[in-house]
Amino acid sequence: CSMADMASAKQVDDCWDALEKIGVAGKTIPITYMNSTAAIKSFTGKNGGAVCTSSNATRAMKWAFEKGEKILFLPDQHLGRNTAVLNLGLSLDDCVIWNPWKPNGGLSESEIKSAKVILWRGHCSVHGRFSLENITAMRAKLPGVSILVHPECQHEVVANADVVGSTEMIIKTIENSPVGSKWAIGTELNLVARLANRFADREIHFLDKTVCYCSTMNRIDLPHLVWAMESLVEGRLVNQISVDTEVAKYAKVALERMLALP
Ligand code: SF4
Repeated sequence: CSMADMASAKQVDDCWDALEKIGVAGKTIPITYMNSTAAIKSFTGKNGGAVCTSSNATRAMKWAFEKGEKILFLPDQHLGRNTAVLNLGLSLDDCVIWNPWKPNGGLSESEIKSAKVILWRGHCSVHGRFSLENITAMRAKLPGVSILVHPECQHEVVANADVVGSTEMIIKTIENSPVGSKWAIGTELNLVARLANRFADREIHFLDKTVCYCSTMNRIDLPHLVWAMESLVEGRLVNQISVDTEVAKYAKVALERMLALP
């Protein structure tokens, strides 16, 4: 996932060191989106935080605010901001962006101290493409259309959509929608195409007019899956992923905290 690559372990460690120096690390709880490397999940577990998905991000952030005063949200700024503002009642001004390419994240000490949510400057290159212009154009082209988007989209897109929800909620929304209803969906194209096939009695469109697949997710294709499985049958393990024991230990802690979320 290209978003996961936007937060390296070294960059996140440097950020935490800076927060420690300013004296706020002790009251900051890291929350990392599932789309992050094992090293970032491990950092999160080691520092009292949890992993979240788009379905449980609200619960994870509420839990974090019971444990601390601030959240460091990794690596997707949009999911963090949208959850904080739409579901936790925080304001846009309560959120600051940590830019890992700038000293001190590009923030002043007082900005860091007064922020409630420090958002890592990462994003999904697929969901980040949807724009307010897409929504305006779709509403003009298709009167009566409902705009359904994922919270990885930019805040102005989410703020102007009719329904915002995780992948699971997008599927449920279409499942429960009336026959003949019109939808423009802002999420990964493969899912939209599957929903359009499955619910041919609804009118389902992709929100962006330009087709944009997730190039990383599309590497998991049928020929490679068959190759991996046939290799296993032949007794060969291909593309094995191994995670350092220490990293795995704390990443598991962060994952278990997510599974135990109230
Ligand atoms: S759509 Fe692709 S880039 Fe975006 S979060 Fe999913 S895997 Fe990552």
